[in-house]
Amino acid sequence: MDLSPAHNQSLEDLDRENIFHPFTLPSEHMAHGPKIMVKGQGVRLTDNHGTVYLDGLAGLWCVNAGYGRQEIVDAIAKQAALLPYYHSFASMGTEPGVYTADTVRRMVPGNMARVLFGCSGSDANDTQVKLAWYYNNLKGRPQKKKIIARDRAYHGVTVASGSLTGLPTVHKAFDLPLPQVVRVRCPHFYREAEAGESEEAFADRLAAELEATIEAEGADTIAAFIAEPVMGAGGVIVPPKGYFEKVQKILKANDILFIADEVICGFGRLGTPFGSDYFGIVPDMISVAKGITSGYQPLSAVIVCEEVWSTILESSDYLGTFGHGYTYTNHPIACAAANANIELMEREKLFDNAATAGAHFHAALHSRLGDHPAVGEIRGVGLMGAVELVADRATKRSFEPAAGIAKKVQADALARGLILRPMMNDSLAFSPPLCLTTTEADEIVDILAASIEANMGAMK
Ligand code: PLP
Repeated sequence: MDLSPAHNQSLEDLDRENIFHPFTLPSEHMAHGPKIMVKGQGVRLTDNHGTVYLDGLAGLWCVNAGYGRQEIVDAIAKQAALLPYYHSFASMGTEPGVYTADTVRRMVPGNMARVLFGCSGSDANDTQVKLAWYYNNLKGRPQKKKIIARDRAYHGVTVASGSLTGLPTVHKAFDLPLPQVVRVRCPHFYREAEAGESEEAFADRLAAELEATIEAEGADTIAAFIAEPVMGAGGVIVPPKGYFEKVQKILKANDILFIADEVICGFGRLGTPFGSDYFGIVPDMISVAKGITSGYQPLSAVIVCEEVWSTILESSDYLGTFGHGYTYTNHPIACAAANANIELMEREKLFDNAATAGAHFHAALHSRLGDHPAVGEIRGVGLMGAVELVADRATKRSFEPAAGIAKKVQADALARGLILRPMMNDSLAFSPPLCLTTTEADEIVDILAASIEANMGAMK
């Protein structure tokens, strides 16, 4: 059998023949895909035909340190040569894992006790569900199992994390969500507030709805509430002022765990170390991934508070082995990448840069597009944001989904050398690397404005 690569075929043909692409419309891919990237430096990517793009999304919201960071590359190479793999089952360990866990545990908000590594945001949130169930079984509350998640949330795609996700594409034809998930409203002021309602009043209404849901379900049946500080894939949704303060009070009163999904917001995206820092959230459990290694290696972590950890520790004598974990939990190369990445981001003060470059970026978006007739809302925090396009600003009427307006603008921006992401309600999301300069921020705004302008005909 000849297994040498079929170099007589184009990369594109080989891709179409072999790759099963995630979150891709298969028929469209077969007709127009793929686009193959071969190089990255700073905030820019180069494809296999030599075309250069400004990556306005940092991969999938993850290349926080930017591309081509030699320190991370060297740390990966050094660890691969020294010890490419060893596991952490049955009390085994590796040096990079110990250091990453120590750093991460001390960085995150809340009274956190232990760090459990995985490989993806999905597996981290899957683990969160299992831990919430495990914890309540150990506490002698076997009925306290439901998880409250929000409409338009994105928490991953495994059976449990996909159930927490509140987006129809992740459920449709997959027999999801699981019945243990209880859904509450998305905290999007622009779309969900009633006419004349203030932001404060909207936050009060969301809190009242959450309280009513808990009462209807029974607090003794609810284990946890999960939230992204700023929702990402659901459209970059920044909650109304006071929202998390009110939510936390209700959860505390009902003995419900707060799981902060920091997979996007963690490691500086909002200009603070974690999204929870920005909103004053004190979580009981935290999921991180993406920015922990800036995507240079797959790594996620679940961080649990003292109460959850001590309950598990105390029960271990009668319950036996903690029966969860992965072959690649604590992966030494991934943890070495995380250590180098976190060190680099601290040294270069990239979290602060996310705040200052982010402020410049939002100001530029507002001054350039704030009064544009097709722009309904500009939203975001730090280097995470979105521009929502509308058919009518006064009524907030959206375009017909079939018109695919955001997709058209995104395609036009791509042709001009900018990668953006179209999302529901014709929003265009951005989340560039945290090393973005103000000049690069202006470049994104210039291209976006030009691409919106170029599509005004399609918006009629
Ligand atoms: N949680 C959030 C907030 C995310 O944005 C994502 C991915 O985008 C996930 C979880 C899932 O992470 P992964 O794709 O690594 O499984």
